[in-house]
Amino acid sequence: MKNHRQNNNLAGVAGVLTSANSVILSGHVMPDGDSIGSTIALGLALEKMGKKVTLSSPHAVPEMYRFLPGAHRVHQGLPEGEYDVFVVLDCSVPDRLGDRLQKLLDKDITVVNIDHHQTKETFAHVNYIDPKAAATGEIIYDLLVEMGVDLDLDIATNLYTAIVTDTGAFKYEGTTANTHRKAAALLECGVPGSRICKLLYDEKPIEVLKVLQAALPTLSISPCGKVAWISFDWQSRQRVGARDEHTDELVDYPRKIKGVEVAMLFREISPGSVKVSMRSNYYVDVNKLAAQFDGGGHKRAAGCLIQGEFNAVKERVIEAAIQVVQRGT
Ligand code: AMP
Ligand code: MN
Ligand code: MN
Repeated sequence: MKNHRQNNNLAGVAGVLTSANSVILSGHVMPDGDSIGSTIALGLALEKMGKKVTLSSPHAVPEMYRFLPGAHRVHQGLPEGEYDVFVVLDCSVPDRLGDRLQKLLDKDITVVNIDHHQTKETFAHVNYIDPKAAATGEIIYDLLVEMGVDLDLDIATNLYTAIVTDTGAFKYEGTTANTHRKAAALLECGVPGSRICKLLYDEKPIEVLKVLQAALPTLSISPCGKVAWISFDWQSRQRVGARDEHTDELVDYPRKIKGVEVAMLFREISPGSVKVSMRSNYYVDVNKLAAQFDGGGHKRAAGCLIQGEFNAVKERVIEAAIQVVQRGT
C-alpha cells in the first residue's frame, strides 16, 4: 500500500483504515475545532472498529475544546508506539504537523491525508482532499458512513464542533445544504447544539477580553478603506498573560468594518515570529495572498508564519494586501 498512491477515493481510504491495526491520528499546529474534533471523531470511530488508536496533536488541545468527549486522550507531539497507519487531518502541507509528528512521514507506515484546503501537491500515500467541504469534519462524517460506523453522541459532538467552528457557526461562504444536512443528522444523535455554541462563543476566559482591550487601539485601515488590520505583539501578550487561543478572534474586528475586503491579524507568537491571519469578505483569494509568504488556507481564510521584526513584517504584508485589492483578485 505504501508505494501505491491513491487520490480522492473515499472507499479507498475506508479500505486502508479497515485493514489497519494500530492507527495514530493528528491535526495541525495551533489546533482549531476542526482539527481537534476531526481527530477525536475519527479516532473514536476506529476504536469502535477494534483498532488500536492513538490521538495526537502538535500542540495541546486549547482550553475551549477540552469539553469535547475524548479531548483528555489527545497526546501532545509524538508518543512512543508502533503504528501502521498515520492519519493526517486538516493539514495542507507536512509543515502543519510540526517537527515531531512530521518525523512519522519518513517511517515505513501508510500515511493518509484527509483535508479540505486548496493544495497544489499531495504528500501522503492516500489523499482525500475536498476543498468544497466546509470542514474536514464533513469529510469524516462521509467516511464514517462509508465504513458503516454508527454515530454515537461522543463522535457526533466532535463532528458537530468541527463543522460549527470551521463554518463560523454556519456563517461562512463554504457552508452548503450538505453541511446543514450533516449538522442536522448530528443533532439527531442528541448533540446539544446550542450548549456547544454557548461554550464556543459566549463563555470566554477573561484573557480573551483583556486581549481585545489591548488590541483594539491598534485597529487600522488603509487609505483606500479596503484593507484593515489589528495587531498583538509579544510585549502585549506577556503583559496580558495570553495564550494563542485567546487571540484567535481578533481578526473578526477588522473584518467587520463595512467596505473592508481584506482583514488581517498580526500576532507575534514568539519574539521575531509573526503569525498572520488573513480573511476576505467577497472577492479576494487570501489563499493566494498567504501563498506569497509560504502560507496557505482557503479563499476567504488563510494564514502564514513569517520570521522578522514585527513592524517590518506588517509593512510587507499590508503592502501586498493593498496591491491585491487594487488588482481586484
Ligand atoms: P487561521 O488564521 O490560523 O485561523 O487560519 C486560517 C486558515 O488558513 C486555516 O484554514 C488554516 O489551516 C490555514 N493556515 C493558517 N496558517 C497557515 C500556514 N502557515 N500554512 C498553511 N495554512 C495555514
Ligand atoms: Mn484547521
Ligand atoms: Mn478545517
